[in-house]
Amino acid sequence: MTAYHKITPEIAEQLKAVVGEKRFFMGDGISPDYTHDEMPIYGKFSPEAVCEAESTEEVSAIMKICAANKIPVTPRGAGTGLAGGSVPICGGLVLSTARMNKILSYDMKNLVVHTQVGVLLQDLAADALEHGLMYPPDPGEKTATLGGNVSTNAGGMRAVKYGVTRDYVLAMTVVLPSGEIMKLGKTVCKSSSGYSLLHLMIGSEGTLGIITELTLKLIPKPEMDVSLILPFADIESCIAAVPGIKLANLDPQSIEFMDADIIKSSAAFTGNQVFPTEMNGEPVAACLLVTFVGNSEDELDLKMEKLAEVSEKAAAMDILVVDTPTLKKDVWAARSSFLTAIEADTKLLDELDVVVPVDRIAEFLGFTRSLGEEVGLTVRNFGHAGDGNLHIYACTNTLPEDDFKKRAKIFMDKAYTKCMIFEGQVSGEHAIGHAKKEYLRESAGDTAYGLMSAIKHIFDPDMILNPGKVCVDA
Ligand SMILES: Cc1cc2nc3c(=O)[nH]c(=O)nc-3n(C[C@H](O)[C@H](O)[C@H](O)COP(=O)(O)OP(=O)(O)OC[C@H]3O[C@@H](n4cnc5c(N)ncnc54)[C@H](O)[C@@H]3O)c2cc1C
Repeated sequence: MTAYHKITPEIAEQLKAVVGEKRFFMGDGISPDYTHDEMPIYGKFSPEAVCEAESTEEVSAIMKICAANKIPVTPRGAGTGLAGGSVPICGGLVLSTARMNKILSYDMKNLVVHTQVGVLLQDLAADALEHGLMYPPDPGEKTATLGGNVSTNAGGMRAVKYGVTRDYVLAMTVVLPSGEIMKLGKTVCKSSSGYSLLHLMIGSEGTLGIITELTLKLIPKPEMDVSLILPFADIESCIAAVPGIKLANLDPQSIEFMDADIIKSSAAFTGNQVFPTEMNGEPVAACLLVTFVGNSEDELDLKMEKLAEVSEKAAAMDILVVDTPTLKKDVWAARSSFLTAIEADTKLLDELDVVVPVDRIAEFLGFTRSLGEEVGLTVRNFGHAGDGNLHIYACTNTLPEDDFKKRAKIFMDKAYTKCMIFEGQVSGEHAIGHAKKEYLRESAGDTAYGLMSAIKHIFDPDMILNPGKVCVDA
């Protein structure tokens, strides 16, 4: 266990001198929001102080003070994480980058945007569209910061076509635990130039450095898009349709799946029934939501025709075109509400964000459903069928917290073991934080986990940056 120092009144004065009184908080002045992220079940932990930085130089000055005094520092964006990554489990300082929210410039010749890290995903997405460009990563929580997205390598609904956040980061400015400022990457699309520290930083969950600025790749905005809903009578045929859609060379932007249970919850939550629950009197067990983008109506018509052929072979009950802008907005709003809808009608929940090979999705879902029955927890799920990333929630509305946690632990142990047997990964996009460390250790194996931990020690020998996360104990 690392011994850290407390933030004394003298250290507090030094920190206050960097950010000013209005952006420094201590004691009762700290908002309770800083004690948790969106998964409070993983524990609430109070920081001793919070600094809201507005520039790289401020972050650097803060880190120099904390390094000199051995104060633990937890970087935080919008706090929408789902693995406890931004929670200060060792106390100390929370360093928020949320106020670093300026889009700095567009480079239209190289199709990149240069931005501070506190910009919200939804703000960059909207601003890029105004420039005729698209920022392809599209994680569900649009109020997350870009810094949080890069630090967790966020995925989202368009990953099946465009890839994940990592694929759009060309360069960054990062402050090391010592306070030194380092630039990584360049505005170029290729590099075989030594170890990629840029890619090491992406997905490192604030354990190796604090990212302050980003250069992100953009693409020309597609002219048009169309979404289609494919209802199925059982989950197995729903998932079995996915390889057919991919093999038909349709290049979908998204292939999302949802079961009947989440369709009903989301309808109750949004007050709008947009996904079908029955077709011609037959109950719908699950749906795929497929989106195509293109530059002409002919191109989209052709894709829709081919999808109809594939769907028929795959025993879809119908193919419903989301054909008006209002319906499209409602359908995607409903899809984006799934987690919030589960939270709204659940007292306690824990989550799996595993990714398994696409051909094992249905089997994995069946396994976790039976497992839920075995341990006495309700299982809810939805996910990115195109890439095998499943969001599975073990829930209760009746059990007391202690009992729930015991059962959830049994559920998680068995589910992660199954995931390993299926050659899957512990997290597809929500990352490890402090909540999923033991499963990463098991899945990565001693050698790889030991190397991760050794890398952490090289970047941060005093272990002050986001201690107790990903690959090291507190
Ligand atoms: C309703 C809902 C839906 C979601 N859907 C998705 C989804 O579809 N796909 C997906 O990938 N995620 C999803 N998430 C999870 C979450 O939104 C992402 O993990 C997001 O990337 C977190 O961003 P944030 O700004 O909130 O970061 P935080 O939660 O504040 O921090 C996350 C991690 O990043 C680190 N960090 C933050 N900023 C910096 C920085 N500047 N430098 C270094 N480290 C930093 C923190 O220390 C922490 O480890 C969802 C969450 C919710 C609540």
